[in-house]
Formats: sequence, C-alpha cells, structure tokens
Amino acid sequence: MRICSKRFDDMNTSAQMTRTAQLALLVLACQMSAAHAFTATHYELDLRPDFEAKVLHGRAHIKLKADTNVSRVFELTSPTLEITGAQLNGRELAVEKSNTGWRIALTEAQATAANLDVHVVYRAKAADGLVFGAKHVYTAFHTCQWMPCVGDDLSRASVAMNLELPQGHRSVASGEPDAATGKRTQRWSQTLPYPLYTFGFSAGVFNEVAATPSDPRLRYLGVSDDDAALRAKFKESAQVLDFFEAKAGVPMPHSTYTQVLLPGSAAQEASSFSLIGKRMLDPILEDPQEDWVIAHEMAHLWWGNLITCATWSEFWLNEGITVFMTAAWKQHRWGEAAYQHELGLARQRWQRAKDANFDKPLSWPGDYPSLGVRRANQYNKGAVFMSVLRIEMGEEAFWNGLRRYTIANAGRGVTSRDLQSAMQASTERDLKGLFDAWVH
Ligand SMILES: [Zn+2]
Repeated sequence: MRICSKRFDDMNTSAQMTRTAQLALLVLACQMSAAHAFTATHYELDLRPDFEAKVLHGRAHIKLKADTNVSRVFELTSPTLEITGAQLNGRELAVEKSNTGWRIALTEAQATAANLDVHVVYRAKAADGLVFGAKHVYTAFHTCQWMPCVGDDLSRASVAMNLELPQGHRSVASGEPDAATGKRTQRWSQTLPYPLYTFGFSAGVFNEVAATPSDPRLRYLGVSDDDAALRAKFKESAQVLDFFEAKAGVPMPHSTYTQVLLPGSAAQEASSFSLIGKRMLDPILEDPQEDWVIAHEMAHLWWGNLITCATWSEFWLNEGITVFMTAAWKQHRWGEAAYQHELGLARQRWQRAKDANFDKPLSWPGDYPSLGVRRANQYNKGAVFMSVLRIEMGEEAFWNGLRRYTIANAGRGVTSRDLQSAMQASTERDLKGLFDAWVH
C-alpha cells in the first residue's frame, strides 16, 4: 500500500492529468507492481549437529506465500544465525545483516510473486535456544536462534526436519516420525501449522522406551535412565493423557508423544514432545504426587501448542490454564487436598505481583518489571482466576465451557474474548463482571 501511495503522490506532481486518469494509472501501477509481504507456510530443514564443536549446521527451504502489499524487503528474524548462503527461486541472493535479523531486498519481479522459495545455508552456535551436552542436544524455545524464521515466533507454519546423526543416536522432533527415515537421517514432519516457538528437536545417545502396542501414544527417552527407571518415572503419563483428552474434548493431536528426560532442570513443551530435567522429575521417586512437570508440559499439548495466545500479552491463556489444569489433574488423581495445595502455591506466587505493586489484569498489554512478576500474573493469577470461574459457573457449565473453547479454537491463535465467549455460551450466568475484573 505504501508503494502505491508513493506513486500516487509522484503522479500528483505531474501536471495536467485528470484525477480519473491518475486513478486509472494508479490502479495499473499497483496491479503491475504491488509488492507483497510474505508469510512462511512451510519450513523444510536439514540439520546436522556437530557435538564436538557444539554447532548446528543447517539448510532451510522456506516456502513463502504473498501476504499484504507492504514491502520490497523481507527479513529472516534470526540475528544470531550465521548465514553463509541464500537463494531465492534458484537465484543467489544478497543478504544483509541488520540488528533484528537478515534483510533480503527483493527485485520487482520477486516482490510481486504469489509464492517464493527461499533456500538458506546457515550455522547456529550453542546459545539460549540450542543446548549441547556431551552426547545430546536439544532446542530451547528460542526457535529463531537455531533456524531462520520469517515473522515472529507466534506465527504458524508446517515443518519437516531431517536430522543427520551419528550412528546409534536417537531423536525426537516436532511432528511424526517419517517412514522415509534413512540410516543416518531421521526425518520428522508436522503437517498442521504450529507456532514457531513450539518447533524443536532433541537427539543423543538416549535409552528409549518405545511406544508399545498396549499404549501406542507414549514414548520415553533418557540420557542416563535405563528402561526400568524411565517406566517408573513416567508411570502416570498414560492416565494424565486420558484425563486431559477427556477435559479437552479433543484427542491428543499427534500419534505419539515423547517425553525426554535430560540432566538439569529443563521443563519445556514442544509441539509434540516435552523436555524434562531430572531435577524436576526425580523427586517423583520419593513422592509419587510430585508429578506436576509431567502434567504441566502435557497440558500444553492442548492449551499452549494447539491453541496459542494470539499475542504474548495474552500468554495467561497458555500458562494460567495449564497451571490450573495441572491442579485439576492432581485433584482427580490425588484428591482435594492436592488441588488446594496447588492453588495455594498459585496464590502465594501471585502475591509477588501484589507485593511489587504490579497486580495487573490478565490481558494487560504493557511490559512487566521482571520475569518473576510476569509469571506471578500470567501463570498464577491466571490459574486462580480459572478456579474462581469454576466455582462461579459450577462444575458442569465450567467443564462444558472449557471443552467448547478447546474444540472451537484448536489450531488457532486466541484472545481472552475467545475464552469468555465459550464460557458465556455454557452458562446462563452473566460472566462480564468477572472477566472485566480479572482479565480485561
Ligand atoms: Zn508452561
């Protein structure tokens, strides 16, 4: 649009042209050269981790679709990658480093195309988004630190990853394992569009408890735990999955869900798997009720991954609902006291925001003074709100409302209004006052 406006201004300066003629020319000019912004619809990634050098060698094939007519430049929003080559529809490209990424200037023909294919060769070093151990590697949330991204990390696309690994290494990545997997290359693909921040992979010298015919949904990988230890620690996983499927009203959106047990204190959801640190899970051997990390990361399969906040200011829809659902699982499995204990912890943690004079509505769009205060609101106040809503609506209406919300929004970005309208449709009681007070 900007380009067309500029042309119109230029034409205004030319003398003796009727307005109708100007407009006709403007329309023609726009039709001929409306430059597009582009949205990535699919990423095909060839990835080779170098465990010695702690570097990931990558090739990305990005499929782009014309979006709106605003730009002759597009950017790969991955400033920390080292890009060593790029091609667009088979032609070499000049890519230029900027503060926010890598800028690619498009020719007029490229900018007006309906589709573009970009190939990028790159290297990613170990960083916040890419963690190497001696014999394993995993990605950590910051997707644009290990692959070239188009748009922000909430944008959705499909993805396939071909992992080239040393002999004996096992892997998991977003989506399903592909039958085309070769000897050295393990291929995973995900055809449903998911938010970029849920893309990931992990590979290493893992023990594996493969999905079995008795429960084909679950698979466990571990760095230092043998099969028996993995089975013992993830004993509850099948029941947790059954509970969330029933509450969601939507089956698990993948054929297999992998839980990877790693050294340290990871607690991370990815689209079709989770990364769990031993420090977070090993207490389960002493106390079976210490299963929160299994439940929390698994709840994200629906609330967070399949249904994702449309903006980060609505992040409570991912985390507040998940903290609440973890408490609801504990109530179902371990009883009322376990539920009240989880809600008590959430209230205590919410108090940190109150103490900092930063108790904001859940959809508050501004910045938070610290990660701790942000979490106090979005994780903990969010969970407390869900528990209040449950009391105010009553059991049947509340769970019907949550199911309605989950079914209606699967595969979408959501705002608090989507939750409110699903909940409102499930009860006679007017929820506006509650949502205004807590959320808006
Ligand atoms: Zn979470």
